[in-house]
Amino acid sequence: YLDFPNASFKDYEYIPGQNFYQWARHFAAYVDNWRSRGHWNYRQECLSGCGSEVLLNLDGKGPKNYVAMVFSDYLGHAIHPKVIAKGVEYMQKYGMGVAASPAIGGHMDFHRELEEKTAAFFRRQAAILFTTGYTANTATIMALLKGDRAIAIVDASIHASMYEGIRGIKYVPFYHNNMESLERKLKENCGRYDTMMVIVDGVYSQPADICPLKDVVFLCKKYGAKLAMDDAHGVGVLGETGRGVIELYDAWQDVDVITGTFSKTFGHVGGYVVGDEELITYLKYQAGQHIFSVAPTPAAACLLKSIDLIDEEPQNRLKLWVNIRHLKDGLHSMGFDTGTSASAIVPVKTGNAAMNAEICKWLLYAGVYTNQIGYPAVPKKHAVIRQSVMATHDIPQMDRVLEGWAYVKKKLGTNNCK
Ligand code: PMP
Repeated sequence: YLDFPNASFKDYEYIPGQNFYQWARHFAAYVDNWRSRGHWNYRQECLSGCGSEVLLNLDGKGPKNYVAMVFSDYLGHAIHPKVIAKGVEYMQKYGMGVAASPAIGGHMDFHRELEEKTAAFFRRQAAILFTTGYTANTATIMALLKGDRAIAIVDASIHASMYEGIRGIKYVPFYHNNMESLERKLKENCGRYDTMMVIVDGVYSQPADICPLKDVVFLCKKYGAKLAMDDAHGVGVLGETGRGVIELYDAWQDVDVITGTFSKTFGHVGGYVVGDEELITYLKYQAGQHIFSVAPTPAAACLLKSIDLIDEEPQNRLKLWVNIRHLKDGLHSMGFDTGTSASAIVPVKTGNAAMNAEICKWLLYAGVYTNQIGYPAVPKKHAVIRQSVMATHDIPQMDRVLEGWAYVKKKLGTNNCK
């Protein structure tokens, strides 16, 4: 159906004139071709948890150990004994699931405690829980922006879940982190809608850079726009006490809805939205994905401890930053380009999706497990190798990663991937 090496997932999303079984057949051939060329990274099966090292059985000849640069457990809470103990305590007390949505019986005392703790963490009035961060974003935007009298003005690099939320309404993108572009869009649409909402990420997962929140807030106020921010990757990592981008810019009360996930820094699963009491109550009764979907399991009570640990163990954040700096310094000294990254995600720019797969393969040969990010997750020319650094890593492991990149450099025969 297509020229394999140059095709992407996106080409199989919808094939005109064919039904979904036919799409699936073409897609299976695409995946076989891809794997036959040694590109194993996608949906690779791990034989161990999300620690700093992971077991993979790539060639079927037995598990081998790799430095894991694919997990977003930034502070190590997913494998923290105190977090695990709290989850186990509640699973034993309440069982493995709550078997009802929050609206019809599934709202337990630990859910309320978690809501209150999450709101207090961000110094806001109230919080609502969702089963994933993805759902938190989609549900919130869908509940708040409706009809043809609402418009979203979105940074072009927002997460897929936010894009899903705005699917049914009018939206205009502005250039990533470009305040002139944002102001142009605000000016063009000012006064024409009941609700104009700007949507940004705190930290953008692909360039791994930070939203200039102070400027965004200023422009939103100037043009009367509401503001939603997803800080999935900033929380725990940025700000003096780990509250993320909101703390970095001292903008505690300036964002209408802060959304986030419990699946990264907090080490579990689930999503949350914090904001003013009335608005959050509105979401609790209006967001379909909250009302008609089961509430988080009792294991989510582990988050009560995980949130406390952000304050109780600031040393984890310090260690994380020591690791990030060591890795970045090493990459830069070899001539690799980490772009505008300013978070725990350290991408290496390649700008070449086909080369990405090769580089991932060489890194695996060198004992380093990374992710390749290409189209359609990012535009083709923005392809990167993505590495997530965690507090559970140590300097010898960062050095192993750097040795992997030295091997890549030898294979490429050049300083720069591009
Ligand atoms: N927002 C951003 C910026 C993310 O990177 C992710 C995870 N890829 C999500 C939301 C979704 O979070 P979750 O995994 O909890 O669904």
